[in-house]
Amino acid sequence: MDKRIEFKELLSFINEKSKEDTEILQKAYSFAEKSHKEQTRKSGEPYFNHLCQTAKILAELNMSPVTICAGLLHDVLEDTDITKEQLEKEFGVEITFLVEGVTKLGHLKYHGENRYNESLRKLFIAMSKDIRVLIIKLCDRLHNMRTLEFVPKEKQTRIARETLEIYAPLAYRLGIRKINRELEDISFKYVYENEYKKVLELVKSQREDQEQFLEKFIRNIKKELAKNNIVNFETDYRVKGLYSLYKKLKRQNFEIEKIYDVLAVRIMLVDIPECYKVLGIIHSIFKPMPGRIKDYIAFPKANGYKSLHTTVFTGEGQIVEVQIKTKEMQLEAEYGIASHISYKKTTNEGQKVKSKPEFDWIKKMIPKTEKITDDKKTDIPKWVKELVKYEKDENNTEKYLDDVKNDFFGERIFVFTPKGDVLDLPFQSTVVDFAYNIHSDIGDHTFGAKINGKFVSIDTTLLNGDIVEIVTKPNSKPTRKWLNFVKTTLAKRNIKNWLDKNQKD
Ligand code: MN
Repeated sequence: MDKRIEFKELLSFINEKSKEDTEILQKAYSFAEKSHKEQTRKSGEPYFNHLCQTAKILAELNMSPVTICAGLLHDVLEDTDITKEQLEKEFGVEITFLVEGVTKLGHLKYHGENRYNESLRKLFIAMSKDIRVLIIKLCDRLHNMRTLEFVPKEKQTRIARETLEIYAPLAYRLGIRKINRELEDISFKYVYENEYKKVLELVKSQREDQEQFLEKFIRNIKKELAKNNIVNFETDYRVKGLYSLYKKLKRQNFEIEKIYDVLAVRIMLVDIPECYKVLGIIHSIFKPMPGRIKDYIAFPKANGYKSLHTTVFTGEGQIVEVQIKTKEMQLEAEYGIASHISYKKTTNEGQKVKSKPEFDWIKKMIPKTEKITDDKKTDIPKWVKELVKYEKDENNTEKYLDDVKNDFFGERIFVFTPKGDVLDLPFQSTVVDFAYNIHSDIGDHTFGAKINGKFVSIDTTLLNGDIVEIVTKPNSKPTRKWLNFVKTTLAKRNIKNWLDKNQKD
């Protein structure tokens, strides 16, 4: 796990690179190796191994050569004599900015409850500057977790708990399931040792015959699809992450028989109509379990996850979950945000993929090189800015933490103004929340709204992807009733302010 990766091998993980990309990567590789020459890891191996492993994880996420360079150099400022000026001279402003961001993030250590929120804040601040910093940090943490066995025992639990409580949820929030799952499963082993063993035993007792059965099940499906002239597809099955299984088991009294997605079959197709067709085929061969058919294509989860899920009786006594999606959806589900900011993304046919509007806000988090200064105002999602502001206003740290947890880790929706600007709001936000998010004056005079062109009342709940146009009237004004349906603290505060002011008059 802590092995050195030769430059050529690292390069092979990067899909598209120009001659210049290769040159700068080579330079960063050699620079990092030379700068950390004298240092070793806790395992006794050269420190450089950690850097090329981190870079490899970034490359697997399909990150750009610039980000991978920053991954190679991410500990240079912290652990060697190299200065920021030197780094800037050798590698330019952008790479230096990223390395500095990761270095700042590295200064936070988790020291139990009191320092907990401080860590969170710093994370958010760093994140609000550039999402790539956070992705590098996640990859850095993932490699550190993979080698946690070499760390002194008293430190292991602290690091694992921090990972479980801060980094894994962040990866989930960014939709990078691949990293989220691995971070959770490694931490789980250290934080909840006994529970981990218990879950592992339960899974082992089930898995062996299940896997054989699944292979047969998949063969049958393949035959049926071929009969229906569907030939361009892939199948596999995924094993539920141990920690996520543990959370579910707790709700089910540790009766693993009640959990139907310990193993799930995945069918990946070319387009969406085919997904529905295949769902039809599956249901015509196997009886579906009522209440477990989920259409996350028409109604994606808040973190963007899309797929059709159904649970079927196989007729041989087993029950199995089948997930049907396009190949692209599968990619998004594993790599999340990373799959949207990755470098020069192309389709099978070699065409450039235009990002979907719902992910434009992510792109906006990447500042252009020439704009990078300390006091720059980047075009960052409003809710991230709000979090940073919170830190300054809030004296009550307990409350701060609760609010942040709700706002950040709770579910969010992404909605649009008629001009296409993205607002993201807490789940179940209403027209009035939207209006106050635009401007307090608009909020104070909200009369109704047009959602996707249709007129609706002010208490209407917004859904992911809605286009919202607020309709105001000069004599429209807030009432106490509004407080009953608004979701955001911002709207509540504004309404109370208005009422206080106008009731005195
Ligand atoms: Mn590191």
